[in-house]
Amino acid sequence: MASLDRIRTDGFRRWYERQLIDCHAWLVSWFLSVIALASGVEVSAASAGWRLSGALLVLGGSVLAFYSWKRYRVLLDIAERLGAQATCPACRAYAKFSVQSSGPAPLPDGGDPTLENHGGGIWLRARCRKCGEEWVLR
Ligand SMILES: [Zn+2]
Repeated sequence: MASLDRIRTDGFRRWYERQLIDCHAWLVSWFLSVIALASGVEVSAASAGWRLSGALLVLGGSVLAFYSWKRYRVLLDIAERLGAQATCPACRAYAKFSVQSSGPAPLPDGGDPTLENHGGGIWLRARCRKCGEEWVLR
C-alpha cells in the first residue's frame, strides 16, 4: 500500500515507471533463482560429497523462484490494471490526475477480485487536472 501513496506524491507516471522497474527486478530475481535451482541439480548429480550443497541450492532456488514469480505477477497485475484505467474518461488525457481519495478497503459496489486477493481491494478516486472529471481506478 505504501507504494500506492507514491501516486499521490510523485504522480502516476513516476509511480508506474517505478512499479515496472520493481516488478522486473523480481523477474530478474526469478531468473537467477532458476539458475541456482538448475545449478543445484547439477552439483548434486556430480558427486556424492556435494549432494547436501546441491540439495540446499535446489531448495533455496525453488523457494526464491516461487516467491519472486509471485511478486512479479502481483506488481505487474496492479500496474497494468491501474495503467489501463489512467486515462480520463472525458478528455482522454493519460495519467494527468490527482488522487482525491484511496483505500485498501473494497468499494461499496464491489471491487476487483484479482486485486483484492493481492492486497485488499486497491482503489483510487482520481480527478483530471485538465477537465476536472472524476473517476475511480480499481
Ligand atoms: Zn479530463
